[in-house]
Amino acid sequence: KKRFVLASRPEGMPTQDNFELKTEELEAPQDGEISVETLYLSVDPYMRGRMNDAKSYSKPYEIGGTLGGGSIGRVIESRHASRKVGDIVLGGWGWQTHATVSGDQVAPVDPDLAPIQTALGVLGMTGLTAYFGLLDIGQPKAGETVVVSGAGGAVGMIVGQIAKIKGARVVGISGSEEKNRYLSEELGFDAVVNYKTESLGEALAAACPDGVDVYFDNVGGEVTDAVFELLNSNARIPLCGQISLYNVAKKEPGPRFLPQLLTRTALVKGFLVGQYQDRYSEAIPEMAGWLKEGKLKYRENIIEGFERTPEAFLGLFSGDNLGKQLVKA
Ligand code: NDP
Repeated sequence: KKRFVLASRPEGMPTQDNFELKTEELEAPQDGEISVETLYLSVDPYMRGRMNDAKSYSKPYEIGGTLGGGSIGRVIESRHASRKVGDIVLGGWGWQTHATVSGDQVAPVDPDLAPIQTALGVLGMTGLTAYFGLLDIGQPKAGETVVVSGAGGAVGMIVGQIAKIKGARVVGISGSEEKNRYLSEELGFDAVVNYKTESLGEALAAACPDGVDVYFDNVGGEVTDAVFELLNSNARIPLCGQISLYNVAKKEPGPRFLPQLLTRTALVKGFLVGQYQDRYSEAIPEMAGWLKEGKLKYRENIIEGFERTPEAFLGLFSGDNLGKQLVKA
């Protein structure tokens, strides 16, 4: 088997040198275990946090340890009562071509529900993040304005579409013309703003003539500062991610924009998708239903070749991906 381990901890932006590829024998499964062959693996922004030696909600990767994360594979050997050879399963074995893991710690993937890799995207971690963050915290109502940053990514494009399903007016912010064109032409976003090429404050004010009722924040930093200027009274802000800050080696003091939140009596609530684990089984069928009805669309950016996993991961920080970034092993 091949696997990527953490070779060193990055300072600031990670590079290929932080990863090392190892080739080893695959362990034979013991009682209760299965061996899997990876079909797809997920690269996600939160993995950047796990490369630091800092306490967080998920454990830091160890130097020399495999980079864990969501993967989908086929069972190739089983010593577990209910996992059969040929089954497709979702697990956390991460950046490995093959792995031997506890059969209890994987979940079956139903290939009839949707293409299997959607269990890592729209019907998996990122889709569920969009669903619960928006509906539980954002609670958009028909006619309200919902702004989403990181709008061309895995979470953001699902947020915008669910907000449309709920009857909101949706404004997406991304850093690419191609992403923004896709959001407005294919997904029906009402307005889009490019934070790299436009004057943010002016472009946002023009895109949100009635202010902002819900701001789903994936990026933080200056984009978020600009949205805060436009909040309406009782705005709701699901705080999902702060990707613009993940590679900043020296933290700036802050937060800077509390007066806006105070005077608009805004609610800001951080959340982690894992908090909603008990409710995944209500969300997945509803999202799968929207997919079947054509109300919800998804895009995947699939890089082929296990060896290219670090490249796929690094691309998240330069905005290479339109939709969910995956690696086909
Ligand atoms: P994306 O698919 O959105 O990929 C990351 C995107 O972020 C890039 O394509 C890029 O798009 C944008 N980006 C990168 N650097 C910056 C920057 N400096 N400033 C602004 N935008 C930047 O990733 P996900 O959809 O998987 O994740 C989106 C966010 O949600 C992340 O912050 C992630 O950590 C968070 N998250 C939180 C979860 C939770 O439980 N709270 C669960 C899952 C994700 P562009 O071209 O627009 O720059």
